[in-house]
Amino acid sequence: MKTLNTLSNHLIIFIVITALSGCTSKHHWSYEGLESPEHWSELDREFKTCRQGHDQSPIDLHTDDALPSNQELIFAYLPTHTHIVNNGHTIEFDMEEDNFIAVDNKRFKLKQLHFHADSEHTINGTQFPAEMHLVHEATDGQLAVISLLIEIGNSPVYDHIFDKIPKPGEQVKTELHLEKFIPENKQHYNYIGSLTTPPCSENVLWLVFQQHLFVPKKQLQKFKAYYSHNYRPTQKTHGRQIYFTDH
Ligand SMILES: [Zn+2]
Repeated sequence: MKTLNTLSNHLIIFIVITALSGCTSKHHWSYEGLESPEHWSELDREFKTCRQGHDQSPIDLHTDDALPSNQELIFAYLPTHTHIVNNGHTIEFDMEEDNFIAVDNKRFKLKQLHFHADSEHTINGTQFPAEMHLVHEATDGQLAVISLLIEIGNSPVYDHIFDKIPKPGEQVKTELHLEKFIPENKQHYNYIGSLTTPPCSENVLWLVFQQHLFVPKKQLQKFKAYYSHNYRPTQKTHGRQIYFTDH
């Protein structure tokens, strides 16, 4: 009887430990196989919005359907120290100093920028080699993401962008001339969407620029050596309106 008690105590302790570790560990997600975008909502209760949300991103932008908008967009970007992180999903540049955009007088602080290959947003069904996201947050928690679609080509601004990719889990410090990242042509599409990665949270203001940026082929190859497929497929619009700012 005593042996049986000890055994059942051990069993209970084992179950408790298993349950605790199940609670504390965040579920892994990826772009392939059983953890790919179509399964994200099944991986963790917190990822439910990935399937249930009606304002998901990215989307295919039908440019003929866009309504004109007078959205005012102001950039306040300066040279900035960053640390580059290879986080298992992308290469991300985390900002160490403050930079801002103002959208219709609402201020959003730049948190980080990162890349996807191929592009996540498509324009009239066309996908591009890559896409850069500049993720900003307002004091009320709302996010605004500037999206720049990437084509292959020469540009002095992005000639060395992927020269210092750290190993997964490590960091490298660098300085970015962010003021040179501001597109000359400010025309852009805007719509309300979501994060394109779990937990797919909504109420994200997307600003997808009409002007694309150019990254040299060799640089893009350095990125693709780590991430050749880190994009979420386009999502249903569920009747969302898209706007175009022509200035
Ligand atoms: Zn992104």
